[in-house]
Amino acid sequence: MLKIAYHPIYTHPLPEKHRFPMVKYELLPKQLIHEGTCGMHNFFEPNFPDKQHIIAVHTLDYYNRLTSLNLDAKEIRKTGFPLSQELVDRELIIADGTIKASLYALEYGIAMNIAGGTHHAYTDHGEAFCLLNDQAIGAQYLLDKKLVQKILIVDLDVHQGNGTAEIFINEPRVFTFSIHGEKNYPFKKEQSDLDIALPNDTSDTEYLTILKETLPQLISQEQPDFIYYLSGVDILATDKLGKLGCSIEACKERDRFVLQTCKDLDISVMCAMGGGYSPEIKTIVEAHANTYRLAQDIFF
Ligand SMILES: [Zn+2]
Repeated sequence: MLKIAYHPIYTHPLPEKHRFPMVKYELLPKQLIHEGTCGMHNFFEPNFPDKQHIIAVHTLDYYNRLTSLNLDAKEIRKTGFPLSQELVDRELIIADGTIKASLYALEYGIAMNIAGGTHHAYTDHGEAFCLLNDQAIGAQYLLDKKLVQKILIVDLDVHQGNGTAEIFINEPRVFTFSIHGEKNYPFKKEQSDLDIALPNDTSDTEYLTILKETLPQLISQEQPDFIYYLSGVDILATDKLGKLGCSIEACKERDRFVLQTCKDLDISVMCAMGGGYSPEIKTIVEAHANTYRLAQDIFF
């Protein structure tokens, strides 16, 4: 069964200027249920994770200052959000959703989180709407519990997974792979184990050719027994932040290729949503819904 982490706090209202990108977290589950892709039984509600799982990735100092709302003004500015207890709770619950979805992925082959993909969070600070790095926390959890031996992180959000790259820079059991817009944030990029930076307006064909040439080869080289997939839909040409030129059909084909590859090779995959900032909320929800439709079609 496809298990999907969702909690009402995912859509926690923020001040007006931050509200738009949050709406998708409410609309996406509604759309999936409305169209029959998922039923209520597919969703599970995460909770607060044990502190030890968070500080296995983030420094104790950062965790303590974040959870007591004691970040300084500069650190808060870097996150892009006004700091609040609700926001910290939201990030903690998202991280728990990714930990639990990782366990479900081991059981069912795939599991997802309606939010997550907070890949700009570093060991000791947050950046760009990311406070805690959920997939890094999930990856470290699986390694610490000795449930997997080698993890591949496939980060196809248009923004480089800079926090994830930094967190696992000295961890040979995690291979970080990021395809992103060369001219997109972060402007000073970290070094993933493999980075592919694409020029502005990269087309469907160019994008998919690179993905299809790279991913199977990488899997055969690294032999992962678990994959984290960050399926940001900010690669769309319509995206207000992303600078690539992909269509919604290419975005769907990207997801299909990644998920089918995992299925064919029998590698469990945990998928988190990441970014999506097209001007029409319908476009964002449709592009994310495709990932769930494909997960149902391919795995169940
Ligand atoms: Zn992004």
